[in-house]
Amino acid sequence: MIPYGRQSVDQADIDAVVDVLKSDWLTQGPTLERFENAMAERCEAGFGVAVCNATAALHIACLAAGLGPGDWLWTSPNTFLASANCGRYCGADVDFVDIDPLTWNLDTAALARKLDAAEFAGRLPKVLVAVAFSGQSCDMHAIGELARRYGFVVIEDASHAVGARYAGRPVGCGEFADMTVFSFHPVKIVTTGEGGLVLTNRPELAEHLRRLRSHGMTRDAAQMDEASHGPWYYQQIELGFNYRLTDLQAALGLSQLNKLDAFLARRRELAARYQTLLADLPLSLPTSQPGAESAWHLYVVRLQTERLALSHRQVFEGLRAAGIGVNVHYIPVHLQPYYRELGFKAGDFPEAEAYYAQAISLPLYPAMTDAQQDEVVDQLRRLLGETARAAN
Ligand SMILES: *Cc1c(COP(=O)(O)O)cnc(C)c1O
Repeated sequence: MIPYGRQSVDQADIDAVVDVLKSDWLTQGPTLERFENAMAERCEAGFGVAVCNATAALHIACLAAGLGPGDWLWTSPNTFLASANCGRYCGADVDFVDIDPLTWNLDTAALARKLDAAEFAGRLPKVLVAVAFSGQSCDMHAIGELARRYGFVVIEDASHAVGARYAGRPVGCGEFADMTVFSFHPVKIVTTGEGGLVLTNRPELAEHLRRLRSHGMTRDAAQMDEASHGPWYYQQIELGFNYRLTDLQAALGLSQLNKLDAFLARRRELAARYQTLLADLPLSLPTSQPGAESAWHLYVVRLQTERLALSHRQVFEGLRAAGIGVNVHYIPVHLQPYYRELGFKAGDFPEAEAYYAQAISLPLYPAMTDAQQDEVVDQLRRLLGETARAAN
């Protein structure tokens, strides 16, 4: 089976982890800080706070944004569950903004209309989670303008977008979002096994994120409500978590960062090859948002189902049967039983639902060979060709 995504781990990565295993610090040591600083530097951000996964990163980013009961978090329905669940962890209500039918990212015109209505109803969101779907930023200029006008906090869920750029700057630089979250899950751009990171330019947010990562504890006397009892003393000044990343993982992340440019170049190359090789098939291919350079975490095609006799499911199953590890990203979050229980229903976000009925993620990962990619294209061509014949 050619997988849809796969990590690339080499001997240098393994050596880096082994070095930390032999050191004094398995967690909360110097390698973690080096990894945070390397990510912040690479992305031209002020501060990096690494945590155990991106879900935890989104959770503490929402808390640091002040999200709580009675507040609203809005996000795209075309995302992984975590982009919405982080609002629920904080006790906030969650709502969605439908997607643009071409970029498959949150539609900023729909966002503007919804904000206008929400202002009238007195239900403006406190947080917008702008998901950089497949590795491509949303229209962050427009989102930034709306954020200034309506006063919400922008958290960019850039789980797909490590190394991506927008308007000539790295995603995460803080020019277009208050906080940016990355995931280091093995299928993402670089991996730490499990891992996540929040970038921000605001020191007070970075400090708060660090405290939330570690039980809400502080050793800073200035934050305590009484004099220190001695050098051992700490205080818990709010409710936090143990969301720490280990130094073993940080070592893997640091070593992976050395290869980020090579990974991105190969992903770009494979995506460009797909664009050419698939151009004549009854598919809608990914489009680029002006100013956005995708990290190409995913390569998604939409079947032009009205031109095909085989269903979406039949094409998917045909590819799997042929050894092509395709996937679907994403089942619209509002259609999950948990969110339907909260009142959402089919038809609420028609663009995301229409997209879901046609989308297939094709294999894409740095170690994928041209021959493997040709095999994916041949199998897809064969199935869609059969489809075309069946339609005649
Ligand atoms: C992978 C992913 C997450 C969650 O990442 P974890 O590190 O697995 O917690 C969140 N949002 C999006 C869009 C993702 O793809």
